Amino acid sequence: MNGWHIQRCRRNVNSDSLLIVHAIQIVTVELENGQKYDGDLLVGADGIWSKVRNKLFGQTEATYSGYTCYTGVADFVPADIESVGYRVFLGHKQYFVSSDVGGGKMQWYAFHQEPAGGADVPNGKKERLLKIFKGWCDNVIDLLHATEEEAILRRDIYDRTPSFTWGKGRVTLLGDSIHAMQPNMGQGGCMAIEDSYQLALELDNAWQRSINSGSSIDIISSLKSYERERRLRVAVIHGMARMAASMATTYRAYLGVGLGPLEFLTKFRIPHPGRVGGRFLIDKMMPLMLNWVLGGNSSKLEGRPVCCRLSDKANDQLQRWFEDDDALQRAINGEWILLPCGDEAGILKPICLTQEEMKPCMIGSTQQKDHPGSSIIIPLPKVSEMHARINYKDGAFFLTDLRSLHGTWITDNEGRRYMLHSNHPARIRPSDVIEFGSDKASYRVKVARSAPIESEK
Ligand SMILES: Cc1cc2nc3c(=O)[nH]c(=O)nc-3n(C[C@H](O)[C@H](O)[C@H](O)COP(=O)(O)OP(=O)(O)OC[C@H]3O[C@@H](n4cnc5c(N)ncnc54)[C@H](O)[C@@H]3O)c2cc1C
Repeated sequence: MNGWHIQRCRRNVNSDSLLIVHAIQIVTVELENGQKYDGDLLVGADGIWSKVRNKLFGQTEATYSGYTCYTGVADFVPADIESVGYRVFLGHKQYFVSSDVGGGKMQWYAFHQEPAGGADVPNGKKERLLKIFKGWCDNVIDLLHATEEEAILRRDIYDRTPSFTWGKGRVTLLGDSIHAMQPNMGQGGCMAIEDSYQLALELDNAWQRSINSGSSIDIISSLKSYERERRLRVAVIHGMARMAASMATTYRAYLGVGLGPLEFLTKFRIPHPGRVGGRFLIDKMMPLMLNWVLGGNSSKLEGRPVCCRLSDKANDQLQRWFEDDDALQRAINGEWILLPCGDEAGILKPICLTQEEMKPCMIGSTQQKDHPGSSIIIPLPKVSEMHARINYKDGAFFLTDLRSLHGTWITDNEGRRYMLHSNHPARIRPSDVIEFGSDKASYRVKVARSAPIESEK
């Protein structure tokens, strides 16, 4: 900033001894060791447990979100990394977020509703998470498995309701010290950065005005102006972050979830009306909301290119992927594998599916010589000689039962198990479980990352 000398002072400040004297022309800070610092202004950017804030407005309790949060980073590249960089998985009173952080690593956050102050047994975090998220899709489980125990951290999530007034006189607050928010929108740090930008802008403008008028810089007014410019946007995003957590608290995938004696209804897998309505709203509102959250401050960036809107998306398919799950799945660039998972998993081998449309994979108890493609032999009693076929078309795999004696079943990611009609191809998806004849010959559909194709490198 032209003409300003900014002194970054990072001393361990103890609130009992932090004394802030803000006279008309100067701020004086006295530290516990008796050292004194004078400055034109003081910015308290000391986080959610801010001492400066306590000194200004008195001590207040932070609000517990109701959730504890485990975080981890794993060496892991999901198969759909090119199309999905950030993903939220919702459950009842628990949710999971994964995010591509580059360099072949994924970061994840696992939220679980429980009282604050809980602790894990030594080396017990991963085991507990695998229990809490048991039965969730592979995107979650694989990431947990890929994470080292030592790389998992746990903390209880608190926030602070942003207040209308951010400072007094020549002292102001910035970031979490004034508006700590739940991490559900990934915006706490971004808001602190936006605060800093606005603060610098206001002070720079005040400095320019003082040069032009020959008067001294009006710091107190510029701090007020900074606060005015920031508080509405921050409050809205803070509210959205809280709303996202309450969505998880009230979210129920099926009728019966969380209904105690009526819990048995869940086995009918009837989608909860709240989930259906919520999905509709999210489809409509999410692009608008994300545009505003991610790019909504662009108007403040004088003279800079406006960016970070959804319309600046890296991939022109993004809007389509938002609206069409099917298109998103077809965009996965991965190796499709059927992994044995039933009672006889030990004697069966994984089946690698080929993405060549003219080379289907034939499944049966004997070799299929007269068919193009590969022949997979499953030597189990309930597998018919020529049992089923898996073929690839337009980015998706289809499974067809070939009039087998004991049938072919799919259990989808939501736990619905159904038998295939003979000669009617059915789409298979990652995490589906396929049974050929009986659960002894069951396989889980896995999609693993394959090397990027040359044109995408
Ligand atoms: C699980 C989780 C995930 C998150 N994910 C995201 C995300 O994806 N994107 C995002 O934008 N934000 C995210 N956030 C929020 C983000 O971390 C915070 O909003 C951001 O760090 C706030 O920055 P800050 O500078 O205001 O405070 P802090 O980062 O807390 O910095 C305050 C600093 O002040 C120092 N300090 C405190 N007290 C004293 C003292 N008495 N004396 C001297 N120094 C002191 C601290 O040591 C610290 O260095 C996440 C938060 C959590 C908990």
